[in-house]
Amino acid sequence: MADDVAIIGAGIVGCSAAWFLAQRGVPVTVIDPAGVGAGASGRNNGLVEHTYDAATTGLFDESVALLSDLLGAAMPSEPVGALLLASGEEEARTLAGHYARFEQLDPVVLDPDATRRAEPLLADGFWGCLLRTGYPISPLEVTQAVAERARAAGARFVLGEPVRLTELRRNHGEVVVAAGAWSGEVLAGLLADGAVAPLWGVIVLVDLPRRPRHAIIEGTVSRGLTAGRIEHVSPFTLLDSPSWLAVGSTLLDGDEPRGEDWAPRLLAGGVRFVPALAHARVHGTLVCARPKSFDNRPLIGLVPGQEHLWIASGHGGRGMSLGLASGRLLADAIVAGSDEPVPQSLRPARLAAR
Ligand SMILES: Cc1cc2nc3c(=O)[nH]c(=O)nc-3n(C[C@H](O)[C@H](O)[C@H](O)COP(=O)(O)OP(=O)(O)OC[C@H]3O[C@@H](n4cnc5c(N)ncnc54)[C@H](O)[C@@H]3O)c2cc1C
Repeated sequence: MADDVAIIGAGIVGCSAAWFLAQRGVPVTVIDPAGVGAGASGRNNGLVEHTYDAATTGLFDESVALLSDLLGAAMPSEPVGALLLASGEEEARTLAGHYARFEQLDPVVLDPDATRRAEPLLADGFWGCLLRTGYPISPLEVTQAVAERARAAGARFVLGEPVRLTELRRNHGEVVVAAGAWSGEVLAGLLADGAVAPLWGVIVLVDLPRRPRHAIIEGTVSRGLTAGRIEHVSPFTLLDSPSWLAVGSTLLDGDEPRGEDWAPRLLAGGVRFVPALAHARVHGTLVCARPKSFDNRPLIGLVPGQEHLWIASGHGGRGMSLGLASGRLLADAIVAGSDEPVPQSLRPARLAAR
């Protein structure tokens, strides 16, 4: 049995880890100065989407199953489909070829007429590549539901108080850093620089006369994030969740961007894809930071060179899609007392080879 565990961060990852540890009978306390879901987990697009990376496909499938159990009818039984937009046939076929590596995505190339039929909101002329993925959820409600399950299983939450890593390490058997984009900062001096850093996203919340049927994504988004390079800093997305219909999004390093600076740019850019955005009612903006890891894969396991100090972070733009299974995996590792249950490609020890 693992000793008592303190978890820094009450986002989807920290709450999930707490749930699975508490289920296994481990005493666990979650600490967050800002509250449950106060970071990216309460403010994102709410699309449970395939990662397009073989290293995390298993965690994605497991998370979908866990979310179905957790949410029941509130989790769609079928994906809505991710409609990747391409400027021409060649690009659409390249996207389909790229994603055909994952059989479950079943990519279908759509010519401009078929793309318009699939998604009447769109402007003329776009080719499409439709992927069988994408389950819309309410991100804050899901994070709160996971926290509730953790509480019901015996986890304690300490919210609204400052967190000191050294004090936690003195007072608890094991400490987990699940502080999202701030995990690198919390572990300053203990984790390699740049292992996890913020990648800021702005989304604009809008109303349209009709809702999109699919998750609409400028094709470059997925390619950019999976290949680890960002092709441009504000690719177009229009994503409908039970919480909000959002136009996005930015992919920005550095300081926190201002939502009001980016909203007009995101909307103006979006009109090319969805003309009705020119007259959309705007409710506001949300700004949050993706925890981007150095190689775009989560870091789950012991902090290299440290004992009893763990990290579960670096989920980038897929924390809602992987968070539940990541929490389960970390709980298994803590109970085992080693990184053994974690696939090599997700262990923090890989930092040594970069
Ligand atoms: C615009 C945008 C859209 C996105 N859309 C999607 C999507 O559709 N699907 C998807 O799967 N993912 C999406 N993501 C990514 C997803 O939001 C994140 O991967 C996920 O929320 C990360 O969860 P987390 O628990 O690691 O971090 P967070 O949710 O950020 O939680 C970290 C917690 O740590 C706390 N904290 C911070 N600093 C400290 C400190 N020093 N001490 C103690 N606690 C601290 C914070 O208060 C916070 O509550 C999106 C991200 C962005 C930016």
